[in-house]
Amino acid sequence: MEEMKDLELEKSAKKTKGPYRNFPMVPRVVFGQGSFDQLGEILLPHRNSNDAPVIYLVDDVFKNSDLIDRIPVLFQDRIVLISADKEPKTGQVDDLVSTIKEDFTELPSAIVGIGGGTLLDLAKAVAIMLNNEGSSANYQGWDLVHNQAVYHVGIPTISGTGAEVSRTTVLLGPEKKLGINSDFTPFDQVILDPDLLHGVPKDQWFYTGMDCFIHCVESLNGTYLNAFSQSYGEKALELCEEVFLGDISDSDSRDKLMMASWHGGMSIAYSQVGVAHAMSYGLSYLLGTRHGIGNCLVFQHLEEFYPEGVAKFNEMMEKHDIQLPKGICANLTDEQFNTMIKVSLGMVPLWENALGKNWAKYITPEKLRSIYEKI
Ligand code: NAD
Ligand code: ZN
Repeated sequence: MEEMKDLELEKSAKKTKGPYRNFPMVPRVVFGQGSFDQLGEILLPHRNSNDAPVIYLVDDVFKNSDLIDRIPVLFQDRIVLISADKEPKTGQVDDLVSTIKEDFTELPSAIVGIGGGTLLDLAKAVAIMLNNEGSSANYQGWDLVHNQAVYHVGIPTISGTGAEVSRTTVLLGPEKKLGINSDFTPFDQVILDPDLLHGVPKDQWFYTGMDCFIHCVESLNGTYLNAFSQSYGEKALELCEEVFLGDISDSDSRDKLMMASWHGGMSIAYSQVGVAHAMSYGLSYLLGTRHGIGNCLVFQHLEEFYPEGVAKFNEMMEKHDIQLPKGICANLTDEQFNTMIKVSLGMVPLWENALGKNWAKYITPEKLRSIYEKI
């Protein structure tokens, strides 16, 4: 109890001033039901020549769907269907880039990602790597990219991650799972068409949507909070509550979830995520647990850090009859627990945001193990 009081004091401690980050934003965005059909017109002025194709990286869940027929393919453009079953890897990005370079005489005019966080991240990474030498693994980190990316467009088909606005692309590399965080990462254009969210399976809708809810809770309760992050975070939280607890039409719900994801992403851009993300990175590294569900698995046990958020989360789970898997960590060895704990403790800015500069006083390996054991 005393410790938690110290924590509150630390959270309210006066923050030091500047220098402030000069944050890039997505310069162009279209929002509206059916806006996907404006893609052809949007791409036209960006086409460099008949030999410089547009490459569409599309979630293969859309194979044989009418969305594929609506893609404005011209000249040598190519549609590449990619499975979102696994998180994007640096090797996968490198392979895509070398195939594109071998198959075409000119660099693409544009890379268009159509899908969830997985496809959006792949599109951002491929666009960057077409103009930067070597393997994408060399660019995992902060501000390691030097050359501008190829023009890239993001079109989300499931909402929550905020990948459509973020300055990162999260990749699993040979040594680490880390984003390419750079000023060249954000999309040049985003198309937000809520109609594309039709057909998302309910569990996945919930898990990815909760990623957004958790972004808001972690941002709004963090020590890095400022008026910029707060203004976006509060709006996103309000929208999440309408979507997951309110009584609104499906069409309204799709519109609002899409905007919640956008605002949630903007909120963490200028602050940081917190405990659930730090711990879910450990799960994902060791067990390959996907981002959305991994956050939910951890978040349900974080009432001591986020009491109001966890209470709301439980209400949302109940309302939508979501059953999270149990016993995920039941049979892990000490070595496996230690791997997860090490990965999680390595997420220093997340812990610092969540609990202040002295976070390590509260977060010991034993503490993390006791939470992982509940999952
Ligand atoms: P996802 O892209 O992994 O897709 C989840 C599932 O939903 C897949 O099976 C996919 O095929 C399916 N799906 C997507 N749209 C659909 C539709 N309209 N109809 C039917 N099925 C559909 O989902 P996600 O949760 O958006 O993304 C997770 C990924 O995002 C992770 O790789 C994570 O690392 C990354 N991420 C990135 C950022 C960032 O800022 N760059 C932030 C958070 C998460
Ligand atoms: Zn997240």
